[in-house]
Amino acid sequence: MRDFVYARAATAGDAIGAMAAPGARYIAGGTNLIDLMKVDVERPSRLVDISRLPFTDVEDQPDGGVRIGALVPNSDLAAHPRIRRDYPMLARALLAGASGQLRNKATTGGNLLQRTRCYYFYDTALPCNKRDPGSGCGAIGGFNRIHAILGASESCIATHPSDMAVAMLALDARVEVRGPAGARTIALADFHRLPGDTPHIDTNLEPGELIEAVLLPPPPAAAGQVYRKVRDRASYAFALVSVAAALTIDQGVIARAALAFGGLAHKPWRDRTVEQALVGERPSAPAFDRAADRLLADARGRGHNDFKIMLARRTLGAVLREAAGAAR
Ligand code: SF4
Repeated sequence: MRDFVYARAATAGDAIGAMAAPGARYIAGGTNLIDLMKVDVERPSRLVDISRLPFTDVEDQPDGGVRIGALVPNSDLAAHPRIRRDYPMLARALLAGASGQLRNKATTGGNLLQRTRCYYFYDTALPCNKRDPGSGCGAIGGFNRIHAILGASESCIATHPSDMAVAMLALDARVEVRGPAGARTIALADFHRLPGDTPHIDTNLEPGELIEAVLLPPPPAAAGQVYRKVRDRASYAFALVSVAAALTIDQGVIARAALAFGGLAHKPWRDRTVEQALVGERPSAPAFDRAADRLLADARGRGHNDFKIMLARRTLGAVLREAAGAAR
């Protein structure tokens, strides 16, 4: 690991100011950043420790939603009574992520900012456009079992590893950030980026911007909420495919559908045309198949990950059946 300067921030303003130094990075739980520093993928000149900032509450909002502080640990958020009662897909997604020890340390903001688990990204002996722009992509033409089938580019086919972000995307979350130019709110759908020809840029945060909180709107009324993660082993593994779904059924017909997917793309994936394909339909295998057709119309496997196309279809069907059954 390379030398770096450590600075603990007492206020958000201090933290943002300290990020003016070239090569500075925020650190909170450090569960991904420290790993990446150990293997020389991340090389910060300065770590700005934000772990003492007052972003640790889960607060009810006047509109019936919830404001989640950026430093709320994943384990605390999963166990929070309001989250368990009104946003059960989020509680399930959080508990599907990482291990108990990691969830105790990992934060809400850090979870959104974790980087891909592409094997080539972690190995500095191999080409990777995300790690070293212009060096090439080892996964295209290499071993790409865990890689993207939607929204990829010829520069990068990595996937985003978060479970939490997938559920939050289906719940229409927004991210509160503050930076040198002031505060703003970003829809989670616009927070992460597709790779294009700049896969080294993961998010639409501006330099120095600090995540302060995640806002959830009121929970979808009377919806059946499901989060299902398919992976190679039962715990401590990243999603091959995951689906977060909230279905509202009215008089036997799907009145509202919200769907988000993990393991399929460079960012948590949401396609509103899939949801629209379900609205007005009675829950049925043919309707779920048509939704899967829509989702996967532009899917492309790269060899080892071809199986994800059928896996995504089957997982979506199973999740929709469960969500329809759970809808009140
Ligand atoms: Fe790097 Fe992306 Fe290619 Fe993986 S898929 S090697 S992260 S450029």
